[in-house]
Amino acid sequence: MCGIVGAVAQRDVAEILVEGLRRLEYRGYDSAGVAVVDSESNLTRVRRLGKVQELADAVNEQHVAGGTGIAHTRWATHGEPSEANAHPHMSGDIAVVHNGIIENHEELRELLTGRGYVFTSQTDTEVIAHLVEWELRTSASLIEALQKTAKQLEGAYGTVAVDRKDPSRIVVARSGSPIVIGLGVGENFLASDQLALLNVTRRFIYLEEGDIAEITRREVSIFDAEGNAVEREEHESNAEHDAGDKGKYRHFMQKEIFEQPTALISTMEGRLSADSVITNAIGVKAEEILSKVEHVQIIACGTSYNSGMAARYWFESIAGVSCDVEIASEFRYRKFVTRPNSLLVTLSQSGETADTLAALRLAKEKGYMAAMTICNVAGSSLVRESDFAFMTRAGTEIGVASTKAFTTQLAAMLMMVVSIGRLQGRVDQAQETEIVKALHELPTAIEKALAFDKEIEALAPDFADKHHTLFLGRGEYYPIAMEASLKLKEISYIHAEAYAAGELKHGPLALIDADMPVVVVAPNNDLLEKLKSNVEEVRARGGLLYVFADEEAGFEGDENMKIIKMPHVSEIIAPIFYTVPMQLLSYHIALIKGTDVDQPRNLAKAVTVE
Ligand code: GLU
Repeated sequence: MCGIVGAVAQRDVAEILVEGLRRLEYRGYDSAGVAVVDSESNLTRVRRLGKVQELADAVNEQHVAGGTGIAHTRWATHGEPSEANAHPHMSGDIAVVHNGIIENHEELRELLTGRGYVFTSQTDTEVIAHLVEWELRTSASLIEALQKTAKQLEGAYGTVAVDRKDPSRIVVARSGSPIVIGLGVGENFLASDQLALLNVTRRFIYLEEGDIAEITRREVSIFDAEGNAVEREEHESNAEHDAGDKGKYRHFMQKEIFEQPTALISTMEGRLSADSVITNAIGVKAEEILSKVEHVQIIACGTSYNSGMAARYWFESIAGVSCDVEIASEFRYRKFVTRPNSLLVTLSQSGETADTLAALRLAKEKGYMAAMTICNVAGSSLVRESDFAFMTRAGTEIGVASTKAFTTQLAAMLMMVVSIGRLQGRVDQAQETEIVKALHELPTAIEKALAFDKEIEALAPDFADKHHTLFLGRGEYYPIAMEASLKLKEISYIHAEAYAAGELKHGPLALIDADMPVVVVAPNNDLLEKLKSNVEEVRARGGLLYVFADEEAGFEGDENMKIIKMPHVSEIIAPIFYTVPMQLLSYHIALIKGTDVDQPRNLAKAVTVE
C-alpha cells in the first residue's frame, strides 16, 4: 500500500516527515498529509490532494512545528482521492494514518455511528480513529486502546496513532502491511519502508505480523498479538538500499536482478491476503472495471511487450477473457477495431514511453471502456492519463536493460488475472487459493533461481565468441524465450532470436550448426513431451543445446547438450522463475564481452521519443 512516516523527537519533525514521504513517492499515491503535535499539545493537520510538494509548500507556509508527528501518502481504496479522504483522520484528540484495507469497516462504521461518532470521510480508515478514541476512554494508555482496536479490525493494515493530549509517544500496529522502526539518538522514527528514514538513521527494527509498539524519544516497547512484551532484533542497514548506489554489485543491472525478490514482495504487499487477491487494493475503480471486462488489449514496447505476451496466456486460460498484445508503434499507426467492453492496458517501466503514451491517447478516442496502466514510476504520464494505475513498485530501475520491471509486471498481471477471473465467476476459491499460495512463494523461488548464478556464469564462455543464439520455449515460455533473446541482444550485442519451439521445422532448423547455441526453457508442464521432440530435432542436426529444465523433467545431458536442472516450482509462477536464469546468462555473457552493461550502445532507458 502507500506510505507511512512517524517521528518522536525534540527537534521539529515536519521536514523529516515530508522528506520521508518524498522518498516513498515512487510507490504512487493520490494525496498526502501530516499531523504534528508540539509539546504544548497543539496539533496541526495539513492535507493536500496531489503531490507531496504541495503538502511541503503548505507545511512551510503554515510554519508547522512540533516534535511528534505522523504522515501519510494515500492510494485510495475506499472513497475518491480528495483532501477530505486524505490521512491523517481524526477523532477528538486522536489522529491516525493507515495503509491497507479494513474489510469490516461497514459494520464498524454502523457501530460507531450508533455511539454518536460523525464521519467526515468515505474512507475505511476513519473507523480506526474513532475506535481508538472510544477505547482510550476506558484504557490506561494509548497502546492499550490500540491493542483493543486491533482486535476489532479485519483486513490488512499498518496503522499509527497519536494523541494530541500526550505528544510524548506514538503507537503503531502491523497486520499485513509492513512497519519498520528507525532508531535515533534521543529520537525515534517509524515508516512503512526503511527507505523513508535513510536520511535520519541506519538502525532499524522490523515489526513482525501482529506486533503493536509504542515509540517515545528514548524507548521502543513492542508487544506481540497476544500482548506479550517481545524483543525484536536490531538491524544495521547498508547503503546499497539507496537507489542510485550500486552497493556491492558491479552493475546496476546485476543489482536489479538480485533485487527481484524484494521488488516482488513490494509489488504484492497489501494486495494479497493468505488466500485471495485484494482487488480493491489495486485502486478504487479496479473492481468496478475488472468485473465488466470482456477483452484486454495490451499495448507495450520492448521488454514490457514480452511480459504482455506472457500474461496473455493467463488472461485467456485463467480469467477467460480474450487478450491481444501489440507493439505500441504498430498499434498507433494502424486502423484497428475496438471490441465491446475492451480494457486497454499499457505496460511501461518508466510511464513515459512515447509510443505507448500515444497509443493510450489514441485509444481513448476509439471507444475503449477504460484505460489502465501497469507502471513503475508514480506520477508519470501514463499513470496520470490512465483511468487507473497498478503500480509495480519495483523501485528505481537504472540499468537500461529491464529486469525487475519485467518480473514485477508479470506478478501484477497475475493478480489482475485472478481478480478478473473471480469477479466474473471463472476462478473459484480453490483456484484462487492455489495461485495466491504460489505468489506468496514467488520471492523464495526467485532466491532459488538466483542461487544458480555461479553455474550460469560457467556457461557464459561458450557463448561469448558466438555471433548468434537461438532461444526456444513453448506456451507462456515462448515469450520468456523472447525476453531472453532481447536481453542478450541488448547487452552483449550478440544476435539472438526466439522461436516457439513448435515452429522450428518451419524455417529456423536450417540455421542449426555447432556455431549457433540453442537455449531451451523447459519447465515440467503438459507441453514437455512436445518440447523434448523439438530438442531432439536440434540434437539430430549437431546443434549445441543448453536446456534449463525442471529437475523432474527427465532430461539427460551429453557433450552437446548441457542440462541445467532447476528446482521444481509451482507451474503458475514458473514463467517468472525461468526469467531469472535467462537474465543471469545474458549478464555473464556481456561481462565476458566487456560491453557497457548498464548503458548499452545506442539505447536509452526511458524511450520518450518515437
Ligand atoms: N484504505 C485506505 C484509504 O482508502 C488507505 C489506503 C492506503 O493504503 O493508502 O484511505
